[in-house]
Amino acid sequence: MSTDKINMVDAPDGYTGQGFFATKLDSVVGLARANSMWPLPFATSCCGIEFMATMAANYDVARFGSERMSFSPRQADMLLVMGTISKKMAPILRQVYEQMAEPKWVIAVGACASSGGVFDTYSVLQGIDKVIPVDVYVPGCPPRPEQILDGIMRLQEIVKSESVYRRGSEAYKDLLNSYNIK
Ligand code: SF4
Repeated sequence: MSTDKINMVDAPDGYTGQGFFATKLDSVVGLARANSMWPLPFATSCCGIEFMATMAANYDVARFGSERMSFSPRQADMLLVMGTISKKMAPILRQVYEQMAEPKWVIAVGACASSGGVFDTYSVLQGIDKVIPVDVYVPGCPPRPEQILDGIMRLQEIVKSESVYRRGSEAYKDLLNSYNIK
């Protein structure tokens, strides 16, 4: 439609003025999602201790709306994988990921979860992205709580900017298919 055919009308009484602004549905949903991501802490070793500090009063992950830990995958939005993941444990991690409802996101916290870390051995998974998709990688062995918060804030930026419908997009379906996840 050409722009000269668009008629702008005035808002009805009571729907203008201070306290009102126009925005996109994507932005509102993204803002709400980004500031209420419930974490599922999948902690297997030392990096998990750093996350405990991140939850405590000094760093206070509640400032980001993420203080409500969920140990049920059904009620979690953000899977935080912290620690060494052995190859034996990989199917369990994948099962937990699959049980999470959409939309869901993953942070690999620390060197072990991101790449296997110093454990370049036959028994250790060389990065959780071998079995599940990862949105943010936090470096360090261990990462400090500030780095974990930085990872959460980076994920918030991703969540704010992605489309409400991203989860139904072809690109996302292709990503899941590449992991053979239905
Ligand atoms: S990255 Fe370092 S601190 Fe974290 S789980 Fe591995 S060995 Fe422990």
